[in-house]
Amino acid sequence: MKLPLVAIVGAPNVGKSTLFNRLLGRRRAIVTNEPGVTRDRLYGEVRQAPRPFRLVDTGGLTPKTDAPFARDIERQAEAALEETRRDHAGEYILAVEGNPPLNEEGMFCIVGGRPFIEQLKEMAAGAKAVVAWGSCASNGCVQAAKPNPTQATPIHKVIHDKPIIKVPGCPPIAEVMTGVLTYMLTFDRIPPLDRLGRPKMFYGQRIHDKCYRRPHFDAGQFAESWDDENSRMGYCLYKMGCRGPTTYNACSTVRWNEGVSFPIQSGHGCIGCSEENFWDNGPFYERLAEVHTPLGVEANADRIGATAAGVITAGVAAHAAISALTRVRNPHSGE
Ligand code: SF4
Repeated sequence: MKLPLVAIVGAPNVGKSTLFNRLLGRRRAIVTNEPGVTRDRLYGEVRQAPRPFRLVDTGGLTPKTDAPFARDIERQAEAALEETRRDHAGEYILAVEGNPPLNEEGMFCIVGGRPFIEQLKEMAAGAKAVVAWGSCASNGCVQAAKPNPTQATPIHKVIHDKPIIKVPGCPPIAEVMTGVLTYMLTFDRIPPLDRLGRPKMFYGQRIHDKCYRRPHFDAGQFAESWDDENSRMGYCLYKMGCRGPTTYNACSTVRWNEGVSFPIQSGHGCIGCSEENFWDNGPFYERLAEVHTPLGVEANADRIGATAAGVITAGVAAHAAISALTRVRNPHSGE
């Protein structure tokens, strides 16, 4: 039986060979800090996965053509892409990081001598589905922040005829990325998505829903500055601008670095990096605006619809106000 093929292609020296070794479960590719060590493409088979697959490591595509062997290394990466297109047409999953800038005919992002937008469309044409890795690919992120001079554009706005699975986050959580691909390889289908195209299993709840500081929010106990006593006590960071109440992601459950911590645990509020236009939704250190609404705080993205952020913000503001009022009425319930 022909095994599925996973080709790792990208910029040089960004961890492709480390990922290759990790998936293989042994040190097959040479890993050093020197770019350009991986030259020929390297094949391996991952047998411990629920569905075995073939894996290809490549030296990557580089815009710096005067580096030693640069063009030869590039040809190897292009050959891996060509092999995927030719031998697995209609079967492969294209996982894309970054977004194509459309201004000046795509000249602001040249990969392997050609505009990224061209390469993206070429690879997407034969794909079964496209995974948009990270906030750049999913939402545009910092490249698309106003005034967006390069016209950086998220994947779903340039690829219209394929299912797009968005995995936002700046960066996305490693376990979430692998969890989405593992689901697709194991069940041979796309995971259930919310109305914005994000897998519900990781983006179905807000950071706020599972945040370990939530009891402080409910009790009306808030840090008022970064170094006050409330901050040292680990109180809620809502008044310091935390975007956890309007941000859908798995940070407060999966956490980061193999579950070690996440921004709120290290004392900084969530900046909402997995939500659309988060760079333009600042300033990050001001509390969410108060907008009064009859809706409560426990609605999810699907039920709320297009006004999700504003409505939840309102609910949170109302909830926080009620918590604070309760605390004033009953001084023994809070700080
Ligand atoms: S506002 Fe932020 S810090 Fe406070 S409970 Fe919600 S997510 Fe946690």
